[in-house]
Amino acid sequence: MHNLMQNWPLRVSRIIDHAARYHGNRRITTRTTEGPISHSNYTEIRANALRVAEGLNRLGMGRGDVVGVMAWNTARHMEVWYGTPGCGAALHTLNPRLFPDQLVYIINHAEDRILFVDHDLIKVIEGIWPRLEKVQHVIVMTDAAHMPETTIPDVICYEDWINSQSGDFAWVDGDETDACGICYTSGTTGNPKGVVYTHRSNTLHAMCAQSPDMLGLSSRETIMPVVPMFHANSWSIAYTAPLAGAQMVMPGRDMSPAALYEMLGFGVKVTAAVPTIWLMLLQYLEANQQLELPDLDRVIIGGSSCPRYVIETFQNRYGVQVLHAWGMTEMSPLGTVCSFKPEIMELPEEDRVDIQETTGHPPFTVDLKITDDAGQSLPWDSRTQGSLWARGDAVVGEYLKANQPAVDAEGWFDTGDVATMTSLGYMAITDRSKDVIKSGGEWISSIELENAALGHPGVAEAAAIGVPHPKWDERPILVVVRKSGAQPDPGDILATIAKRCAKWQVPDDVVFLDEIPHTATGKISKLQLRGILKEMNYT
Ligand code: ADP
Repeated sequence: MHNLMQNWPLRVSRIIDHAARYHGNRRITTRTTEGPISHSNYTEIRANALRVAEGLNRLGMGRGDVVGVMAWNTARHMEVWYGTPGCGAALHTLNPRLFPDQLVYIINHAEDRILFVDHDLIKVIEGIWPRLEKVQHVIVMTDAAHMPETTIPDVICYEDWINSQSGDFAWVDGDETDACGICYTSGTTGNPKGVVYTHRSNTLHAMCAQSPDMLGLSSRETIMPVVPMFHANSWSIAYTAPLAGAQMVMPGRDMSPAALYEMLGFGVKVTAAVPTIWLMLLQYLEANQQLELPDLDRVIIGGSSCPRYVIETFQNRYGVQVLHAWGMTEMSPLGTVCSFKPEIMELPEEDRVDIQETTGHPPFTVDLKITDDAGQSLPWDSRTQGSLWARGDAVVGEYLKANQPAVDAEGWFDTGDVATMTSLGYMAITDRSKDVIKSGGEWISSIELENAALGHPGVAEAAAIGVPHPKWDERPILVVVRKSGAQPDPGDILATIAKRCAKWQVPDDVVFLDEIPHTATGKISKLQLRGILKEMNYT
């Protein structure tokens, strides 16, 4: 029997077509980079995305080309998000917080030929402009009145540019396996590595990511992605929201707690970001006791481990459900979400929160296993730790220009994480393999120590680092940033940890710092912290 079904390539343009046709008037509210709040909708986003595609096409962009974008979360960014693959090219998202050398490396490595840039970020591009090898045009994402002074020649004003297009353009067709987007891992060791998503992988991933046990979005909801669209494929929210017909609130550049709180006021029911953002928001709310979160229903927290304090405060104080998630740039990015299976629903509240400290279970299309050093699968008994491997339709197969597979012969990708699994398939990250603390032949989870330390009311942020020890190989040291106005006693902090960890796991010392260094994606930079501890003669 032949295939008698339609050939319907899974192209991301179909996502914005669907949103415009069936959810056209859903609002996209933006704190613009110029300042005021603006409103758009899926019909307008699609119309402008078509103009972007038309304009790029006229500039010679098409299949095989790469267009970079350095922008905050805004409606314009959504237009570029769909306009670029809509002309056949791949969109390369750029994190403005990367070091200049890293930006130069990834822009040249991906061979970006056109750059879209928010007007307030023009200086970042200006600073590296002479070193960019292939970039022909820079398009500044603002109107004529806000065009910045710049030494970059012949910059194009976005609003004038799209308004000068005819608007009579159709998406460039192609295969569903064409390149659609590129995102680089932050490369804490060595150069960043490029992950190339396809139209098919992004579409399938969005469908799975928005299923009920994952993000579970609907057309009755409003989602605010605080996580920047340049971080790990926007956590797929730039696809899942229009696919579901959900309204969007785009916070723009200002991610201060006060600004985010104001944006939550636009009826936001679901929001997503790394734990640091939520730690700051909860501290802001704590300091302003009269503030509540009346509309918010659930908050997706991932990128690094979510402390129990954050889960409990959101749920018990504000009635907001936490969905702890794990993912990677290499996985498009969603790997697991901690939603409740029926067996978990039956548990007492305290035990449910224990489960929420794991990162949850995968959707259909993501498969996981843990192995020992010899590659043998390990039991799912909640205790045995092993290297975490993943495979699926939206998991990297090979890095850009690497010319060798990123997976083993059976298609498994080594995540570089160490994890345990429960018998119900809930996965808990215990560490990144390079951050594991090895003491006396046993492994100590730095994540467990950090989360335990955050249980102390005077601790704002904590990081556990293994330092060399003559007898035990390594011993943990805890680095702490105090909450403002608090003077926590080191002994008390260690006693708080001892309530949750075995005695031999408790750190040997507490070091107080005013600030802990973060990576470009807002995670604790253990590499830099090790350097700081070394200077303090700990290593
Ligand atoms: P980058 O390192 O560039 O920020 P990613 O966002 O892709 O890139 O980082 C993925 C890594 O982040 C994972 O391999 C894991 O180590 C860590 N991570 C993501 N989510 C969690 C989580 N919920 N708990 C612990 N670690 C996490």
